[in-house]
Amino acid sequence: MPSSKLKTAKAVQDSAALHFRLHYNCCKNCRCQNFGLVESADYLAESFQLGYPALHCKACGSYPPLVDSESVNRIIDERAKQYLSKAPCGCGNCEPGFFLGPSVGVKRYGKTGANSQRYQCRQCESVFTQVSIKGEEQLATLFNSLSLGHSPQKIMQQLSIAPKIYYQLLQRLFHCLRFYTRQQEQKSLNGSFIAIHTESQIHAFSEQKKIWTLCSTEVNSGYVLLHSHNQTQLELNDNAYYQQKASTLLPSLTESPIVEALKRRYQLTLNRYHFEDLHYGPTVNLRGTKLLQPSVCAYAHFQLLSGFTQHSENFHHYIEHESSIRGAALMCCVDEIKQQRAEIFYLYRHPRTQSDMGTTGNKVGWWNDRWFPADFGAFCGITSVQQVPAPISLPQPEACQNYFTHLQENMSKQLKSASSVDALFEINRALFNYVIPDQQGVSPAMRLGASQKLMTGSELVNAAVAAVNQDHVLKFNT
Ligand SMILES: [Zn+2]
Ligand SMILES: [Zn+2]
Repeated sequence: MPSSKLKTAKAVQDSAALHFRLHYNCCKNCRCQNFGLVESADYLAESFQLGYPALHCKACGSYPPLVDSESVNRIIDERAKQYLSKAPCGCGNCEPGFFLGPSVGVKRYGKTGANSQRYQCRQCESVFTQVSIKGEEQLATLFNSLSLGHSPQKIMQQLSIAPKIYYQLLQRLFHCLRFYTRQQEQKSLNGSFIAIHTESQIHAFSEQKKIWTLCSTEVNSGYVLLHSHNQTQLELNDNAYYQQKASTLLPSLTESPIVEALKRRYQLTLNRYHFEDLHYGPTVNLRGTKLLQPSVCAYAHFQLLSGFTQHSENFHHYIEHESSIRGAALMCCVDEIKQQRAEIFYLYRHPRTQSDMGTTGNKVGWWNDRWFPADFGAFCGITSVQQVPAPISLPQPEACQNYFTHLQENMSKQLKSASSVDALFEINRALFNYVIPDQQGVSPAMRLGASQKLMTGSELVNAAVAAVNQDHVLKFNT
């Protein structure tokens, strides 16, 4: 590609910084004139009318539970660094992560005594070196051992390394794979339409440690775009933390007829303290970490997803039928919903029979929810005003579930360090997307267009290391 054309394409991609929403207390009824507005004369800022702290919108009569916006904003910041950072490339203070905005760039700034290139950040003027990542073979061995689910102890023995070196290598592998996969995604996600499917799952480690996780896949490929969890190292307001109460998770109920099952799920949701108050039973925190309330984690997760949808003219979110993530999904695309560029649908996966649900849909639950049959079960438009089924396409309905199963079966259950959780999840995301084929021998990355072929673990690691090492070279040649 001629460099002028490359620059034009890049300019479009980098045209604006992504701004996350800052305030989450507003009317969340998308058929109300106040939908998404932070301030309105119709609001009562704090109501206990329904027994929980809520905002009351007098225009539509809704009582959305109060959200701790300050904590959500801090979690977004923490998550953006974990999942989208370009580290070890660029200035650690100023360089925005992938999907987050235009690069601030660096200037050459002499060499160190050891002849490493020094760089100066164009924004904060701090000076740093980027040492080339070496030891691809050792990183590939680590990746392949992790792919087999080996415990940290076993891998340290295999590689004859001390724990300190193991954790250093793990972080290096994590950063290289994150850099490479995000770079590939940024190149691939350029269509005028994207649909993202999101489901939640409890991920269990040894010693009663359980975390709540959210997985979002691109629907045509089944490629895992974002997998986040509710563990944090931040000090937040108490009400942002998970409260260790008895489980209010909705059962799958796939053995009941589908309409009965849906009715029961709505009923169980009503039994909650409020509809965003999700609990998954008592659990043990890893030392030095806290667990977030699932809905707080969901608000941050969906804000980050707006990075993946920002360049699409139109997009859909297909979310699991779980009311604790509904508000989060709505809040990531308020303007796009108003402009009729974005739609959100609930999904319910169920092995339904042909005759159990009419094609004209079934009114179940509240918020005018109307469910329509689909091959995978049923769906319900959350944002669409029309009472007819919208054409929605979900070629890989099991994609999120497949990823959850992959993690439970292939990831070591031993968890000793908080930072290793992010590293292990990200390494597995790369493994699942690029290395593991379906029955036709195709990987999710191939279907997304992020990879030309099925990669071996070593090929993936080599490509990732090369991407990081080339970053600065490319920066100065374009
Ligand atoms: Zn309202
Ligand atoms: Zn800087």
